[in-house]
Amino acid sequence: MKNVILIAAPAAGKGTEAALLKEQYNIPHISTGDILREKAKENSELGREIKSKIDNGEFVSDDLIIDILNMRVQKEDCNNGYILDGFPRNVNQAIAYQKMLDKIGINIGVVIVIDIDKNLAAKRSAGRVYCPKCKEVYSINTQEKKSKVDGICDKCGETLVKRADDNEETYMERYNKYIEKTSPLIDYYEKRGVVYHVNGNNGIASTHEQVVKILGE
Ligand code: AMP
Repeated sequence: MKNVILIAAPAAGKGTEAALLKEQYNIPHISTGDILREKAKENSELGREIKSKIDNGEFVSDDLIIDILNMRVQKEDCNNGYILDGFPRNVNQAIAYQKMLDKIGINIGVVIVIDIDKNLAAKRSAGRVYCPKCKEVYSINTQEKKSKVDGICDKCGETLVKRADDNEETYMERYNKYIEKTSPLIDYYEKRGVVYHVNGNNGIASTHEQVVKILGE
């Protein structure tokens, strides 16, 4: 059983690495951002509230996200482990998550921190586009992640779109939130002896190689 928590600044490559791990280990990639972006499309008060929070780089409420997680990790496809991308996002969520795991008898697994320079992550955010259908992520400014045809998803032919929160101003908002709220989690998990650091500055293949060395075959 492989349970993996990925922690990194926004646009550092968590989603890309999670997708590779999903392929390699055949375990689900749980992105709370993707789940929330789907909910944000709903024409309801909750949908509109979530959309506004995401677009402004704010966090949605801990209670909502913990409910979503609780339901998701108890699905059958998580029996052999799962990759968490975007959760927990603060210490309060980590404490609630630990209570949830204790209750259902699941081990925390490993926490992988992808370290990256702030300017590089901001550049990746500025160049990021994604497929609204299959969620595959591409970059318009990184060779390793370019789509074969500009603006079109390699996998399903959909037109690629930009996330509303991938603009310079909102990126800074999200980055500052990461430093203030999410980075204390590294210390929280280091005290529990489950943290591994990888260097995310050298691209997708390098990051993945380091992660696989930690997780094993
Ligand atoms: P991401 O795709 O991980 O960059 O998340 C996009 C946005 O979804 C974030 O900026 C938050 O608004 C929201 N979000 C995702 N995960 C969480 C979480 N664990 N707690 C609170 N808000 C979240």
